[in-house]
Amino acid sequence: MRRCAKTRCERSPAATASLLYGAREVCLVDLIREPDPRFVDLCDEHIDRLIPPIGWVVRDDRTDPPADASELPRGRERIHR
Ligand SMILES: [Zn+2]
Repeated sequence: MRRCAKTRCERSPAATASLLYGAREVCLVDLIREPDPRFVDLCDEHIDRLIPPIGWVVRDDRTDPPADASELPRGRERIHR
């Protein structure tokens, strides 16, 4: 059972974050299939609260589940619950 990487968080992860040191980007992608020590799995809540290190940006490359035939580029809005 996979869990969010944050200490004491027991939610299941919703996405995977990778740190691109060269580009100074925190890259969010859909949850990867297998846990990988190079990446960090985070739950929805911690993704929403994700604060990048100073000088870094968060790039959200997650894809939405296909809801309709829309092919708009993903300037995804955060979903707040
Ligand atoms: Zn969490």
